[in-house]
Amino acid sequence: MKTVTKLKRYDMYINGEWTSPTDGEYFPSHNPATGEAWCEVAKGSAVDVDNAVQAAHAAFLSPEWRKMTPTQRGHLVSKLGELIAENVETLAKFETLDNGKLIREMRGQLQYLPEFYHYYGGLANKIQGNVLPIDKPDMLVYSVREPLGVIAAITPWNSPLYLTTLKLAPALITGNTIVIKPSEMTSASILEFVKLVEKAGFPAGVVNVVTGFGMPVGDALTSHPLVRRIAFTGGEVSARKVVENSAKNFASLSLELGGKSPNIVFEDANLDNAAMGIIAGIFSASGQSCVAGSRAFIHKNVYDKVMEKLVHRVEQIKIGDPLQEETEMGPLATEAQLQRVEQYVDWGLKEGGKLICGGKRPENIENGWYFEPTIFEHADNTSKITREEIFGPILSVIPFEDEDEVIQLANSTEYGLATGIWTQDIGRAHRVSAEIRAGIVWINTYRSVSPIVPIGGSGLTGYGRESGMEVVHEYTQTKSVWVNTSDKIIEDPFKWV
Ligand code: NDP
Repeated sequence: MKTVTKLKRYDMYINGEWTSPTDGEYFPSHNPATGEAWCEVAKGSAVDVDNAVQAAHAAFLSPEWRKMTPTQRGHLVSKLGELIAENVETLAKFETLDNGKLIREMRGQLQYLPEFYHYYGGLANKIQGNVLPIDKPDMLVYSVREPLGVIAAITPWNSPLYLTTLKLAPALITGNTIVIKPSEMTSASILEFVKLVEKAGFPAGVVNVVTGFGMPVGDALTSHPLVRRIAFTGGEVSARKVVENSAKNFASLSLELGGKSPNIVFEDANLDNAAMGIIAGIFSASGQSCVAGSRAFIHKNVYDKVMEKLVHRVEQIKIGDPLQEETEMGPLATEAQLQRVEQYVDWGLKEGGKLICGGKRPENIENGWYFEPTIFEHADNTSKITREEIFGPILSVIPFEDEDEVIQLANSTEYGLATGIWTQDIGRAHRVSAEIRAGIVWINTYRSVSPIVPIGGSGLTGYGRESGMEVVHEYTQTKSVWVNTSDKIIEDPFKWV
C-alpha cells in the first residue's frame, strides 16, 4: 500500500503574522523534476488581499516606519542581504524544488542577491531633493522626494527571489510598504525568504505576501484603491489586465515582460566565445528567461564554423535532476510550458524551419517536464517560431550578409529587451549598439546583471526600468515646498490699485 506523506504547508504573511486563507483552501505546488506535488500553499482571496493592503497602508502611516530615518531603513535592507547570504543553500533548494531550475544556477543567483540589498541599503540616505533657482524674489523653493505608499509586486515563476528583490529593495529604502504576490507555481521560496524579513526586524505590515492565483489575487491587488504603484513582471496577457486595473486606482506601473532577443555574430568575432554566449543565452534555465537569446544571426562567412561549435556542445548538454551538481539543463517549470514548447516545434517544422538537433522530450527520462535543447535553422526572420517568445530551450539560427541587414533583422521584433553583439571591431560594436532597439546591449558577453545597471525594455517588453539608481525615482514622488522669506506685509489680494 502506498504511504501518503503529509505535504509541507505554507500560510500567507500578512501584518507580521502567518495567516491562513479566509476561505481555508490550499493548493499543491509541483516539483517540475518529478511532476509530483511537494508542498501546499494558501489559496488567497480578495478578502486576504484587502487585509494585506490595509495592513501595508497602516504600516505606511505608522510612526514606527514613517519616522525611521533613511539611514535606519538602509541598515535594515543591508541586514536582509546579510541574512540571505547566510541562507543561500536553503533558499536555492526551495527555488529549485518549485521551478526546476538548476541548483547551481539558483545558488549562484542567491549568492549574488545580497549585493542588491547592499547597493540599495547604501543608497537609502543618498536620495536627495533640490533647492530650485526660483525666478521670484523672496522665495525659497526646495523639493523633497517622498514615498508613494503601498506597492504591489507581482512576479513570475522563473526567478522568484531575484525578481522580487528588484522591486522590494528600492521600495523599502524609499519608505514604501509592499504586498507581494508570487507566481502560484513558485511561492515557497518567497515565504521562506519572508522569515528573514521578519528576522531582520522590519515593522509588521511593511512587507506582506498573499499567495494564490492571478484571478482573484493578482486582480484584486492591482485594482485595490490603496495601491499606489504596481511593479509587474510576467507575460503579455496578464500585463494587459494589470494595465486596465491601474486605470482604476491610477497607480503608476512598471511592466517587465518578454523578449525575442538576438545574438549577432560578426565574422571577426571570437567564435568560441560567441558560441558559448549563444548557448548560455538560450539554454540556461532551459530557455525560461526574459532575456533568453532565442535568435542567433550569424555572418555567412563563419556560419558553418559557428554551427559546428554550437551543435557539438549542445548535443553534449547533460539533462536531468536539477538538484544534481553535474546537471546542465533541468526541466521546464510546468507541464503546460512543455506542451507549448512541443507546439512551437510543430509550427517551426510546418513553416519550413530545418531541425538541426533536439526537438523532443529526452527518451531516457521517464518523469518530469524535460525537453531537449533544440536548434532550428531558418532562411529569414518571418516565421512564428522566430518572432514569438517561446520561453523554452529553442534557438532559431539565421545567416546574414552585412551590417545593415542584420540591424534590420535584429530590430524586426515587437519586443525590445536585450541584444548580444559579438565582434572584435570596436567601431562596429558601438555603431551597431546605437542602432539596436533594446533596453540592454551586451557586447562580447551575454546575460550579465548587476544591481548598478538598469533592466527593462520597450514595445511588447513593456515599460519602466528596474535595478540601478534611477529606479528610486519610480518609487518616490516630488514634493515642492515654497517658502516666503520676506517679512513684508502681504497685500489684500483683491485690492488692485
Ligand atoms: P504570467 O503573466 O502568467 O504571470 C505573472 C504573474 O502575474 C503571476 O504571479 C501571475 O499569477 C500573475 N497574474 C496572472 N493574471 C493576473 C491578473 N489578472 N492580474 C494580476 N496578476 C496576474 O507570466 P508567467 O508566470 O508565465 O511568466 C513568464 C513571463 O514572464 C514571460 O513572458 C517572461 O518573458 C516574463 N518575464 C519577464 C522578465 C523581465 O524582467 N522582463 C523576467 C522574467 C520573466 P499566477 O501565477 O497565479 O497566474
